[in-house]
Amino acid sequence: MKVLIVHAHPEPQSFTAALKDAAIADLTAAGHEVVVSDLYAMQWNPVASAADFGSRGNPEYMNYALEQRANAEAGTLAADIEAELAKVMAADLIIFTFPLYWFSVPAILKGWFDRVLVSGRVYGGRRFYDQGSLAGKRGWLVLTCGGRDYMLSEGGIHGDMTQILKPVLQGTLAYTGLSVLPPFTGYHIPYLSPEKRAEILADFRARLAALDSVEPLTMPVLASYDREMKPLDREMKPLA
Ligand code: FAD
Repeated sequence: MKVLIVHAHPEPQSFTAALKDAAIADLTAAGHEVVVSDLYAMQWNPVASAADFGSRGNPEYMNYALEQRANAEAGTLAADIEAELAKVMAADLIIFTFPLYWFSVPAILKGWFDRVLVSGRVYGGRRFYDQGSLAGKRGWLVLTCGGRDYMLSEGGIHGDMTQILKPVLQGTLAYTGLSVLPPFTGYHIPYLSPEKRAEILADFRARLAALDSVEPLTMPVLASYDREMKPLDREMKPLA
């Protein structure tokens, strides 16, 4: 299979980079084709702006999503966006490796989502969730954090990691059609002994080896909703 790794860590010797390097080594050894977008090394521009468009659907007023659509159709998106889109479209599996920043992804990766997941190419109209253009591909978050596992669990002080990451897992990956694998999280990374970190790396490699047997997370399917996106199986309550 073809694998795209989108890596977002500023330090090449970081533990997060070690996870990325293990993924490259093991997937390549298993015969897969691996392409890496190392966002800091590429000096990826995360800022969505009018400079992303070589032409304008509306020269008077810049609506970013509408200009994405117009420029995608005209073939006038910025070259760095087109290059990343080509990698996304070619991939069967997209792995995102990053440290948790403020319960979310680093800004450089958020900016990759904003600019590369182009309206009109990967979603648009009723093409989202299981109807999104990336349906049939898988997405996987591989992250590190400072917090301990029990702090980022249901009932813990911060709550469950899958809920914390919902804007990315559901609002971004699933929304574009990806089947979303349960995240792999390395907890408390800066504070562990080298031996404990080595164990986490080994756990990660075991997860990688067993990737094909992992069930994706449950996400919405459009067939459960009517044309106005109201659920078919129950009455909608008015918002309080
Ligand atoms: P590093 O600090 O780079 O690595 C830790 C150690 O591992 C280093 O000593 C390194 O030499 C060593 N190492 C490297 N390779 C290996 C290897 N192969 N085997 C063993 N050891 C190795 N945390 C939270 O929990 N929640 C948050 O919301 C949050 N927000 C943050 C916001 C910001 C802006 C920042 C800067 C941090 C935040 N953090 C948060 C903490 C952050 O998530 C962690 O510091 C980070 O994930 C740790 O991973 P790392 O790859 O950066 O580790």
